[in-house]
Amino acid sequence: MSKKSIAIELSKLKVFENPKEKEEQYSTDSELASELLWNAFMLGDIKEKTVADFGAGTGILGIGALLLGAKKAYFVERDKKVIAILRENLIKIKKDYDVIEGDVADFNIKVDTVIMNPPFGTRKRNADREFLIKAFDIANTVYSIHLKGSENFLEKLAYDEGKSVTNVWDGGLQLKKTMKHHKRNVHRAKVVMVRIE
Ligand code: SAH
Repeated sequence: MSKKSIAIELSKLKVFENPKEKEEQYSTDSELASELLWNAFMLGDIKEKTVADFGAGTGILGIGALLLGAKKAYFVERDKKVIAILRENLIKIKKDYDVIEGDVADFNIKVDTVIMNPPFGTRKRNADREFLIKAFDIANTVYSIHLKGSENFLEKLAYDEGKSVTNVWDGGLQLKKTMKHHKRNVHRAKVVMVRIE
């Protein structure tokens, strides 16, 4: 599969129906998801690897990893309503996966790669930190999306945990007006995608 065909496949997936603001539920758009996944694939972190998608939401990142040849994917998500949509997105996926209904904090299976777009911690402080520390615990390699400007925070946190940021890519996260406080209909937030090892 090419980067373009991954983006097309991922654009067909269902997204959040009534996103919960408190949970910072926003889907990674297919462009950004395919960029992140393609980078990970090119660096050898997807093909034949076990991956975990933390805060999987409707599953775009884990499904993309499976399409790019991951051996198995774990989808970790705590919101039952979202899991129902995730399961619909998984119907056509004839690959090995597990949906883990619960908190990321309780997930303790070792994997090769975590790939995630965690809550940015704008509503609940430290939400992103909890996801990262857990990911460092169970995986060799972590790919994560954060707001632009988080680079110093990410480098320091990685360093404190004996890890390091090996790659940083700039990107844009397309946010549709799904929440009351969004003023424009479509808005691109500047983000960074990082690889931590
Ligand atoms: N990864 C998806 C969704 C991102 S939104 C995508 O890229 O499109 C973040 C998701 O994390 C939401 O679905 C939210 O319900 C979930 N979430 C937030 N905190 C969580 C936690 N502690 N454990 C499990 N899931 C969590």
